[in-house]
Amino acid sequence: MNEPKVTEHIASSNKALFSFELLPPLKGEDFTAIQQTIDPLVEFDPAFINITYHQQEVVYDTLDNGLMKKRTVRKRPGTVGISAAIKYRYGIPVVPHIICGGFTREETENALIDLNFLGIKNLLVVRGDPPVGMKTFVPEPDGNSYAVDLVKQITELNRGHYLEKDIKNNRSTNFCIGVAGYPEKHSESPNLESDLHFLKKKVKAGADYIVTQMFFDNQKYFDFVKNCRAKGIDVPIIPGLKPITTRNQIVVLPQTFHVDMPEALVKEILKCKDNRAVRQVGVEWAIQQSKELLKFGVPGLHFYTMGKSDNIREIAKNIL
Ligand code: FAD
Repeated sequence: MNEPKVTEHIASSNKALFSFELLPPLKGEDFTAIQQTIDPLVEFDPAFINITYHQQEVVYDTLDNGLMKKRTVRKRPGTVGISAAIKYRYGIPVVPHIICGGFTREETENALIDLNFLGIKNLLVVRGDPPVGMKTFVPEPDGNSYAVDLVKQITELNRGHYLEKDIKNNRSTNFCIGVAGYPEKHSESPNLESDLHFLKKKVKAGADYIVTQMFFDNQKYFDFVKNCRAKGIDVPIIPGLKPITTRNQIVVLPQTFHVDMPEALVKEILKCKDNRAVRQVGVEWAIQQSKELLKFGVPGLHFYTMGKSDNIREIAKNIL
């Protein structure tokens, strides 16, 4: 299956692309959960499906003698395998995420070679968050520190430059590179201006398009696009949307993703008697957001499923 690059698909399409993001199953689970998420959305002709990548986590076991022993676990392995399985079972292009955290540059290069063998052309390149329980991000020795470093590594591979200089058959890869953008700025950034400065560096290093962090107020996206364009960031900016599904997300999502929730949305959620009603509010809010974004002329609508697609299906039915 010869898949288009995300940017080629955007350029050749006369309507906004529909896409969504999946998490690889927890270790021990099989492909069923993935199928249950994808199947209800296939009829809406997804342009691509993103598969996240997760850094290993550190856990501490208490030993019989009372001492603690550090152990690393990777709860959601299999991004590359799941990507290939989706691409070949469904014939839908996939966008595996590639992260800096937990990987040396050589391990990253080997993963990229695997993806290239599998005919996967699109990547979303992010730094990764610090593992659960850690406050700051620490790269691996000989790993990439920022997403821009990872973008540079992939751009070099696209030019046929491998880490080992004297490789004989240095075939170049042809990856299309997406990166993350934050309409409400990244949590570690001192201000939006600084965040945009580093976003521009990612684009200059070879990023072909941007996918945004979730936002609940479209004005944040409109301002972000305006600020990006004013800074000379001219690649497509795909908005990322997360429909609310539970009441506790009004606390958890702002805490985790450092995003604001409009008062009107919070008020509606607080009126709900149960999470079924909250889910409906989330669906209606996302439909309104999507309609306005489509009117604005966005290149695509990207949905964060967090493993649930029945609500995305309802939204898709109303907007596509
Ligand atoms: P970067 O672009 O490296 O930026 C990180 C911070 O450093 C920012 O504050 C930036 O302003 C600053 N900065 C950048 N470059 C420099 C520099 N050279 N010097 C000083 N400061 C700099 N996480 C996962 O673990 N797995 C995933 O699959 C995943 N997918 C995501 C998909 C999307 C669409 C988004 C929006 C986020 C995703 N994340 C994922 C979360 C992401 O990894 C975190 O938000 C992470 O904290 C930052 O990643 P980044 O690529 O934006 O980092």
